[in-house]
Amino acid sequence: MSEHLISPVALIHTPYQQKFAIPRQPGLVSAAEATLELLPPYDNPECVRGIEAFSHLWLLFKFHQTAEQGWKPLVRPPRLGGNTKVGVFASRSTFRPNAMGLSVVKLLAVDITHGRASLRLQGVDLVNGTPIYDIKPYLPYSDAINEAAGGFADSRPNSEMTVLFTPEAAQQLAHHQQRYANLQLLIEQVLQQDPRPAYKQRVVASQNYGMALYDLNIKYRVEAKITEVLEIYSD
Ligand code: SAM
Repeated sequence: MSEHLISPVALIHTPYQQKFAIPRQPGLVSAAEATLELLPPYDNPECVRGIEAFSHLWLLFKFHQTAEQGWKPLVRPPRLGGNTKVGVFASRSTFRPNAMGLSVVKLLAVDITHGRASLRLQGVDLVNGTPIYDIKPYLPYSDAINEAAGGFADSRPNSEMTVLFTPEAAQQLAHHQQRYANLQLLIEQVLQQDPRPAYKQRVVASQNYGMALYDLNIKYRVEAKITEVLEIYSD
């Protein structure tokens, strides 16, 4: 079997500094905006000529943070509670042969600065710095299939979590929103997804957690279906 070496065409810059808390599919957190930095020679504006006519794009990328951990024939999707196993090719697991990821994202704008093209995107589910191997326009007539069956992930995940901010966190939020205008919505949308692993979601007692968005650490507490943001700070 022949092997082909491929190299990235772009790097993506996203608010997500670690895998934890990233939504499990694109489009779930609309406040997650990203910049896709095309790498030379693909940053030539000719490479993206006409792309602004498409509202959405497919990104093919590498799960570069987990690629070295390899893959197994069976995986345990979080949507099935983390115990039931399905085949790797019946899942969107990051642990797969070739570690290739596929996400559809919204195209907000094409920027050309000093002769270099970059794209502004919305709704991403990728960790900051993920290498992108190809970009293709989303074609609704072919890619959107109304009667398609979604298996164990037939609908958007339920997000019954209520997100609140303590008075201290609300003050810190107001301060950091001077730099990140959409910060409140981003935190709320991420935490409404309840990023905890499936086995933790069954814990009812109050527990504290942390996540990193942009250059900020966000500490929060979860008790039953209430998430309270406790602290937002930069190092
Ligand atoms: N939409 C893509 C797909 O179906 O191929 C990704 C689905 S995968 C279940 C989404 C998860 O991948 C995120 O929640 C995050 O934890 C993880 N992830 C995102 N970027 C990654 C990267 N560069 N390396 C490893 N894991 C990553």
